[in-house]
Amino acid sequence: MNMYDIIYKKREGGKLDKEEIEYFVKGYTDGSIPDYQAAAFLMAIFLKEMDREETFQLTTAMKNSGDIVDLSPIQGIKVDKHSTGGVGDKTTLIVGPVAAAAGVPIAKMSGRGLGFSGGTVDKMESIPGFKTALEPQVFIDLVNKIGLSIIGQTAHVAPADKKIYALRDVTATVENLSLITSSIMSKKLASGSDAIILDVKCGEGAFMENIKDACLLGELMVEIGKDDGKETAAVITDMNQPLGKAVGNSLEVIEAIETLKGKGPDDITELSLTLASMMIQIGGKAKNLEEGRRMAEEAISGGAALEKLRLFIEGQGGNSAVINNYKLFPQAKYNVEVPLDTLMRSDTGGDCHIEKELPNVYVTEINAKIIGMASQHSGAGRATKEDVVDLSAGIYLHKKVGDAVRQGELLAVVYSNDKAKAIKGAEEAKKAFSFHEEMSPKRDLIKKIIWAEKQ
Ligand code: URA
Repeated sequence: MNMYDIIYKKREGGKLDKEEIEYFVKGYTDGSIPDYQAAAFLMAIFLKEMDREETFQLTTAMKNSGDIVDLSPIQGIKVDKHSTGGVGDKTTLIVGPVAAAAGVPIAKMSGRGLGFSGGTVDKMESIPGFKTALEPQVFIDLVNKIGLSIIGQTAHVAPADKKIYALRDVTATVENLSLITSSIMSKKLASGSDAIILDVKCGEGAFMENIKDACLLGELMVEIGKDDGKETAAVITDMNQPLGKAVGNSLEVIEAIETLKGKGPDDITELSLTLASMMIQIGGKAKNLEEGRRMAEEAISGGAALEKLRLFIEGQGGNSAVINNYKLFPQAKYNVEVPLDTLMRSDTGGDCHIEKELPNVYVTEINAKIIGMASQHSGAGRATKEDVVDLSAGIYLHKKVGDAVRQGELLAVVYSNDKAKAIKGAEEAKKAFSFHEEMSPKRDLIKKIIWAEKQ
């Protein structure tokens, strides 16, 4: 077997077998297959695509390229949750405590943010003292004791994905269903949970911009999970504006705490309840979604989920006093307001003129990608893996899509420890907003739920 023949076969639209796919994954991971052949192969896959069986073999080979986490010492059905990447998505910090309060053990590995997307590990590290690198036994003991632990993903889980993803990033081969599926599912399947809930984002701030592609991705990931013997379900959700109002590490943790106190923004609350009810059902603690939802709502209204959060923070060395005193989070030295000014009104074109007596206009769009980039540039994110994150930085949205706004009112505030970055972030954030004199129709946040078909 050699790499040239495998590239040629895929280039001609042939179907690859298990041995050929394993040959590529093993050879590229150990360095015996060079980048130029791997790049050509990825492009051949991108153009000629893979079917379900090939995607499963690729996922399995990538999963087996490193450690498979053994969570068997943890009692019960362990449930993992994954989002394909959003702006302002702090749901892990909400659904973890909610599902754990409903009796579902959560032993989760999460990543750091890169580019305009945030990462749960950075968010958790904004809690003073919180540790995301724990010894495996400490991680397992915590889940057995309090039902929840979240740690940083180690380099030993699916190392093939690290190399392949980095190459895809620079060879324009990211947006392919089989390659995204194998990348996400190899890590999830190696992480040891028994069941997986996937949040597939759809819209301008996501890999999948339209509902059709997002559904295809959700269906393929659910099928691959099932082929591997893991209960898997997906929910397709809107990412045409940031989730919630807070974007940036400590700002998002505060919003997650508020949501666990029952005071979160509507969209983040709704998505969290949907995800948590799916996790509770797939974790065998509820007969159906309605029961799962009731349990999730009760975990929030009765305070059990907030108590889980407290135990989780303390279990990982963090200062749980942050729950009632947000001043204990890193505080930004600078904040720059983004008001609706006349310039923006004239920019809206059409019906909006610069006059003294202006009517209300409505926010019709907040481009999630632009807000994500603005937050990154304010210091909250990294352009390269080596960048140091300003945990206090980010953007707080005072208006969301559908809100009425008047001249001079605040749209957002940008926070940073670096004045120039705060100003740059504010200039960028301004460009994310679109307005109209009429309210646009409301978009559904939860678009579709996909369960694996029972055999
Ligand atoms: N997230 C991943 O981990 N991999 C992809 O390919 C896309 C999103």
